[in-house]
Amino acid sequence: MKHLAIIPGDGIGKEVIDVGLKVLDAVCEISSFDYDGELFDIGSERYLKSGELLTDEDTDSLRKKDAIYFGAIGDPRVKPGILEQGILLKMRAVFDQYINLRPVTSWFPLVPLKREVPFDIHFLRENTEDFYMGAGGTFGRDRKDARVNVKREMYDLQIDLRTNSSNNDDFAFEIGLLSRKGITRFADYAFNYAKARGDKKVTLVDKANVCTHIYGMQRSIFEEKSKEHGIALEYMFVDAMAMAMIVRPETFGTVAVPNLFGDILTDLGSQLQGGLGMGGSGNINPNGVSMFEPIHGSAPDIAGQKKANPIAAVLAARMLLENQGYQEEGEMLRRSVRDCLDKGLTTPDLGGKLTTDEVGEAICRYILGQKK
Ligand code: ATP
Repeated sequence: MKHLAIIPGDGIGKEVIDVGLKVLDAVCEISSFDYDGELFDIGSERYLKSGELLTDEDTDSLRKKDAIYFGAIGDPRVKPGILEQGILLKMRAVFDQYINLRPVTSWFPLVPLKREVPFDIHFLRENTEDFYMGAGGTFGRDRKDARVNVKREMYDLQIDLRTNSSNNDDFAFEIGLLSRKGITRFADYAFNYAKARGDKKVTLVDKANVCTHIYGMQRSIFEEKSKEHGIALEYMFVDAMAMAMIVRPETFGTVAVPNLFGDILTDLGSQLQGGLGMGGSGNINPNGVSMFEPIHGSAPDIAGQKKANPIAAVLAARMLLENQGYQEEGEMLRRSVRDCLDKGLTTPDLGGKLTTDEVGEAICRYILGQKK
């Protein structure tokens, strides 16, 4: 029995998680997978009523779960950034979900490429370091010094900066930081992931020809880990990778990418596989509580209209199942999505006429039809 935390959140998050849960119920009926789900009302409604975002009580309860199934947050009544920082980013930090897993799969006929070649790229984006640590500042005009503090479990970094610049010489800076510990756990995860998938290589994306310090260190640790795990390592500069994803996506399997470049490449990937409605994402701590969600947001423009494509949430459920050791059940969800696309059973964003629930029913029908 798996203990899941269910956080539907806001807008279409509620609608697609509702479908995702029905799909998981169908999986329970025909397989050995079983779960109990505890519902959490974390999101904009609660914030607007009580000012609460992610409370200590929430994190204490979430910590006891096997995994978190998350919908989306975002509400036009709340200033942008508040919910994202107070809930999503806080959850990633509290549970140290240092891997962001984003598969990019050729869901024909949705692939907007000329060549019909199947691909299945699994992006592993490092989720905690690089240029997204908020370690920066602005100084010059009336400030002659600045201090950057980066305090983590793994390190406590303080950098003092001073300038002698003239009054007109303001500047701002953002520090990208990679630590040996951070890179090592990232590399171990990537090589273990490639091994489990049967990939013969890990592709490491960087810009080591320009940012020589951080990505040079990353390369040397990945090289050591490549030998240790007995899996080949391939380097790609991020600019070349963006082009290669368009002209030869079939040549990639497990791709490890640092935080900033990963943000950009996975969005490119989301369009390669048919848009926001087709992407699942996992925020993973292999030794802690991981969280699985569709890549799209709360889409207030279509909320309540039964138009939301639930496939991204179903693919997030697939990732949750596989992460929890239910590979066959996960594969069944992949096939159920394939079946919907083949039969044209889709929501309007994919050119179909069905409602969110009707797509969910089609997926459940497929799963229940797999009973041995
Ligand atoms: P947020 O700020 O919460 O991320 P957003 O509207 O800015 O919300 P998304 O929710 O990711 O960003 O979506 C952008 C647009 O894509 C939406 O306005 C919606 O029209 C479309 N969209 C997103 N997800 C889906 C989906 N599952 N099904 C159909 N259309 C979707």
